[in-house]
Formats: sequence, C-alpha cells, structure tokens
Amino acid sequence: MHAAKCPHCHVRLGQFMYADACPHCHKELHDNTQPLTVSAKRDPLKTRAWPITAFFRMVAVIES
Ligand SMILES: [Zn+2]
Repeated sequence: MHAAKCPHCHVRLGQFMYADACPHCHKELHDNTQPLTVSAKRDPLKTRAWPITAFFRMVAVIES
C-alpha cells in the first residue's frame, strides 16, 4: 500500500504517491522504498534514494 499523505509532514502526495521521497519535506517514504520486489532488491535503497531526493529539492527551488 502507498500512503496518500507523507508520514512525516502529512502533505498530500498526489502524483508523488509512488515517489521514493516526499516532495515537500524530502524525507524518505518508507512505503515506497522498502524492497517489495526482486527488481527493488537489485537496486539498493541508498543508491537510488539520493538522486530522487536531489531532484525533488531542485523542483522545490524552481517552484518557489
Ligand atoms: Zn513530507
């Protein structure tokens, strides 16, 4: 199950429901980063979490 709201800041995730990190507070969304599938296990959490976090941080700067 994917949370409709961020568990950290409770912002509505909307199109970011399946993202690895919250677009608002940039904290990891554990519901999405837990290794639920084989493909996720082959793609370790730490190596894919940081570029996405950096991406959202960049988007937040652009939108502000
Ligand atoms: Zn958040």
